Amino acid sequence: MKDKRQLIASTDNQTKSGIMVGISACLLGDEVRFNGGHSRSKYCCGPLQDYFRFEKFCPEVAAGFGIPRATLRLIGEPHDPRMVYTRDQETDVTEQFHAGYQARLEKLAHLDGYILAKNSPSCGMERVKVYQPNSHPHDIKSAGLFAKALMDRYPHLPLEEDGRLNDAHLRENFVQRVFAHHTFRQQVLTAPSVKNLLAFHSQYKYILMAHSQTEYRGLGRLLGQEHQQYTINELCDLYLQRFMKAISKPASRGNHYNVLLHLFGYLKPHLEGEVKQDILNTFESYLQGYVNLATALTLLHHYLRLFGSHYVQAQRYLSPYPKALGLRNQV
Ligand code: SF4
Repeated sequence: MKDKRQLIASTDNQTKSGIMVGISACLLGDEVRFNGGHSRSKYCCGPLQDYFRFEKFCPEVAAGFGIPRATLRLIGEPHDPRMVYTRDQETDVTEQFHAGYQARLEKLAHLDGYILAKNSPSCGMERVKVYQPNSHPHDIKSAGLFAKALMDRYPHLPLEEDGRLNDAHLRENFVQRVFAHHTFRQQVLTAPSVKNLLAFHSQYKYILMAHSQTEYRGLGRLLGQEHQQYTINELCDLYLQRFMKAISKPASRGNHYNVLLHLFGYLKPHLEGEVKQDILNTFESYLQGYVNLATALTLLHHYLRLFGSHYVQAQRYLSPYPKALGLRNQV
């Protein structure tokens, strides 16, 4: 049986096996952009390389447009745009572009996340311009054509853009989603059963609660009284869909504070009054924004190691991804 310290460290151990994440090739420094340059991302090429095994892909190169190449843009209806050359809008290359990534798209079911280059008519995840016949962009923005195909084919896959990874909250949330997706595939999809779903739900209780108490309870009902309406594969799919949606946005400071108090509840019988007050003061400082989440959790973790049950120590909230990434130092 695992001892308590092993339970807490489980996420750190898990990462060394590598988590497969797709990425726009130019973000890894490949010189595949239209001008023969790249858009190397320091963060992707730095800390994330230690934990993610990247699979890079450039859909414009795959479509045979060459390097260097004329620039491309989206035109027409923002919900169903066409791809053309910026300087030759009579030449519609949409079908050629789609044909270039099809085979690759079908082989991405093993991924746990995808990082896309921003603003690209191919890879941009959102806010990509779609031009009108008068060459002005529509007010409504779109996703790049490859990004949209990726979202349609793998609707539960955590996606993020390189630019948004500069935001500490979005970065923390993306990495958490990738690790949760990986855990779900490893623990549930390799042997789908209600028992494994319940075990996953139990481990992720406080992560869900930090995002939505309502959906934590809703997913509990899905696995309880409602699960007989579905086949096991339908149930896994529905659970993953709702789970990923529930955690898709960063949790608020107030919700984290509530979770800290819930976890503190496990310690109350074991602690002296003064120690309890110190912990509560630290939580309060976190709520007020004077200290970061890592500070509050380090203190809590210390006492949970000493007094927490296996159940509480196995909570992914305490260790959703490797501590060395330092993500909770910035939120
Ligand atoms: S943004 Fe996408 S299509 Fe453009 S160079 Fe990078 S990988 Fe290729």
